[in-house]
Amino acid sequence: MALRLLCPNKFVNSLAEINLPLLQAQGVKALIVDIDNTLVAWDKAEIESANRAWIEKAKRLGFSLCIVSNGKEKRVQGLARELGIPGLANAIKPRKRGFLRALELMNVRPEETAIVGDQLFTDILGGNRSGVYTIWVTPLSDQELPTTKLMRKLERRVARNLVKKGWLVTGSNRSEVQG
Ligand SMILES: [Mg+2]
Repeated sequence: MALRLLCPNKFVNSLAEINLPLLQAQGVKALIVDIDNTLVAWDKAEIESANRAWIEKAKRLGFSLCIVSNGKEKRVQGLARELGIPGLANAIKPRKRGFLRALELMNVRPEETAIVGDQLFTDILGGNRSGVYTIWVTPLSDQELPTTKLMRKLERRVARNLVKKGWLVTGSNRSEVQG
């Protein structure tokens, strides 16, 4: 697999850090959002209030929104209903299918869309394969499935490589390109 496909277009520490007006100015009209450890901490049922506010802000600005999750139908639809946006469960990210269905649902092209998610091997890989703008967000919680924890180790290794290549800007090398 090409390393490029695992490289997000942007890294942020939280959803609130995403510059929505700037995205809009870049032609992004629609947002695909992951649930677990992006909107909701993995071990919690409640949506973080800051994230709820972020969803409302995105709506106010006129973005179309759609949840795409590998999670189960019941949890995904419950949260989607709560937020008043559509939700696609059992997406099997990084498969393209869920992303493409979301684009269809929101009636937008890939280049008008961004995905926001916490995992390189599902959200970012799937987003890049689907041709959407990819935003990697720091996970809300470090409580995760053992399999995910294992993936995190691999993820950190990949991220270090991406930083070394100068493709990914995170942490200490971040301030240089800001502002
Ligand atoms: Mg996630």
